[in-house]
Amino acid sequence: MSKKLFALSAQYFKKAMPLMIQYQIPTTPTNYALWYHYVSDNNSALKKQLDEKIALHGTCTPAASEELYQRFIVDKREQELSQLRSELDAMTNELSSSLHDTLNDTNEFDRMLNKCLNELSGVEEDGFSIEKTLSAVRELVKESHDVRSSTRHFKSQLHEAQIEIAQLRETLLKTQHDAMHDSLTGLLNRRVFSKEIETFCSNPSLNRNFSILMVDIDNFKAFNDDYGHQLGDQVLKVIAKRIADSCQEGEQVFRYGGEEFVLILPNKTFTIARQNAESIRRAIERLSIRDKRTGKVIDNITVSIGVSENKPRDTSHEILTRADQQLYEAKRLGRNRVMPMPR
Ligand code: GH3
Ligand code: MG
Ligand code: MG
Repeated sequence: MSKKLFALSAQYFKKAMPLMIQYQIPTTPTNYALWYHYVSDNNSALKKQLDEKIALHGTCTPAASEELYQRFIVDKREQELSQLRSELDAMTNELSSSLHDTLNDTNEFDRMLNKCLNELSGVEEDGFSIEKTLSAVRELVKESHDVRSSTRHFKSQLHEAQIEIAQLRETLLKTQHDAMHDSLTGLLNRRVFSKEIETFCSNPSLNRNFSILMVDIDNFKAFNDDYGHQLGDQVLKVIAKRIADSCQEGEQVFRYGGEEFVLILPNKTFTIARQNAESIRRAIERLSIRDKRTGKVIDNITVSIGVSENKPRDTSHEILTRADQQLYEAKRLGRNRVMPMPR
């Protein structure tokens, strides 16, 4: 981050913090993003909404803050948000390291005082009366003690600030992680997939021999109807893990939609990709999950998989459409299969 940008975000930080404290807004990353935009003066609609809420209630409730965040910040410019995250990240990094330096300085000061005290306690001078020496020493000892206790206090304040900054950093990292991952299965989400597939399709050196697997759980609506959504969620997690376990170095799996997963297999020819798909299909067919409520063992979970391989100058849309068509064909032919079939 440039110095200018850093100075600007530090300035916003300084403006936003007192307002958040005044209106009793918890300092979460979401709220901080809201108030950062509020003080940066480039989002008048958001400013108006927040002003109204503060005028009415004296604060902005967590639910209202979340709603404003979704409406004005996430929807508006996701990129801007990630920029903000990295700015904040850099800022906390710098603050943290400068605090660290100061802490070292006070340690040094403390050491110097200790040394001085030791020397003074041993002073014996002929021309100096004992009373004078003693009084000077007493004075110095007293002052040194005062300074020492104030530096101790300062040190403990700095230490607390350092802990707070470390926590803020952790929260920001978690926010960043959450923005990329699906909360139920822990897999990378569709947004990351879209970026990744664009990279593959737009970069000619990567765009050699990669395949896509589109995996969709069969009759999952009926499964939810029969066993309940909660068990449905558990099945999604188990299937996600099975698929992730099947991935080798460099292969990636994403949660593409509700009960759909997509894999990118780099440097895999169509034949190998099909074999991978077939082994995923079989691994899931072999699953058996016990319904804790009824004790019943469920062993009829299956998936259908569409496979496609990239062609020269394919767009992401083209390769995905072909995988989707193959998936549709697998469903049409009776599900629990990989398409296309080997020739
Ligand atoms: P098909 O074999 O043709 O794919 O049939 P299907 O029932 O799987 O497909 P459909 O698209 O009709 O229904 C998908 C179902 O997936 C509906 C929805 O309840 C379920 N689903 C989507 N996301 C979740 C989730 O996060 N948890 C649970 N439990 N179910 C989900
Ligand atoms: Mg589906
Ligand atoms: Mg389905």
